[in-house]
Amino acid sequence: MNTSAAAPYGVHLLPCDITPFKAGNTGIDYVTTYDSGVAGPHLMINALTHGNEVCGAHALKFLFEHDVRPIRGKLTLSFANVAAYESFDAAYPYASRFVDEDFNRLWNEETLDGERDSVELTRARAFRPAVDVIDHLLDIHSVELPQPTMLMSGITAKGRALADAMGKPKHVIIDPGHAAGKRLRDYAAFDDPAAANQSVLVECGYHFYKEAADIAIETSLRFLRHYDAIDPAFIAEHLGDTPDDEPQLFIDVTGPVTIETDNFVFARTFEAFEVVAEEGTLIGTDDGTERRTPYPDCVMVMPAREAVKGKTAVRLGRIV
Ligand SMILES: [Zn+2]
Repeated sequence: MNTSAAAPYGVHLLPCDITPFKAGNTGIDYVTTYDSGVAGPHLMINALTHGNEVCGAHALKFLFEHDVRPIRGKLTLSFANVAAYESFDAAYPYASRFVDEDFNRLWNEETLDGERDSVELTRARAFRPAVDVIDHLLDIHSVELPQPTMLMSGITAKGRALADAMGKPKHVIIDPGHAAGKRLRDYAAFDDPAAANQSVLVECGYHFYKEAADIAIETSLRFLRHYDAIDPAFIAEHLGDTPDDEPQLFIDVTGPVTIETDNFVFARTFEAFEVVAEEGTLIGTDDGTERRTPYPDCVMVMPAREAVKGKTAVRLGRIV
């Protein structure tokens, strides 16, 4: 175990060697497509949108090493921000999220077609043709603190339907993404209610817990199972026959509580996804100004561990 100020929860899951997958077969480094030769959707499972979210790399390695192939349609396995991943240093494990900028804020046509350049934009432009031919996407992520796993379905009904069909993780966040720039999961047809393309993002818990890799594998198999994309016997063997599903909770994110001063104090510690029953419950005070829950059964989606001016104290959500 490696616990330091740079990683207070330790680094228990390290990057794995993905260089065997560099050449791929698509002309784009670290993008491999298998074609069953049978009609069916083209699925993509993508890892390393963020370079330090290493669980996705472990999941793809698992699929490669087990020779997982589609039995209908096509399956693309891709590693996105490899430059950031290659910069990983266990002493500063958060530093390799990206090199120049967040790869997951670039997925607007204006940005991709624009004049600006960066390590991530260069990669996104090279990667884009692989995404443009995809029907349905699973994008694998993790988070910086120990928190429950969750799916981010976006705001379209088809995104929610995909999360529902996968059955796990339990918590499904319905959110519109980031004002700073579109995520891969919100790119083009994925975000178009009129298009059939579905996408979902999974957060597999804390970046550097070993369980994150297991969750990434399980979620990948659930995604493939939904589309009948691979041998069901392989899925059964690795998912086991644990009964699927405790009911999922779909949470509509209504907005953040933003910390406006240096004197924000939480009223108490809130757990991730804690449901606060009573409307008007005190969340905290911001230099004396009370911030309270705006409606009953308010979900505390991702409470911050410390209050930093300008950051989000907590995102609030309503159970759908
Ligand atoms: Zn991420």
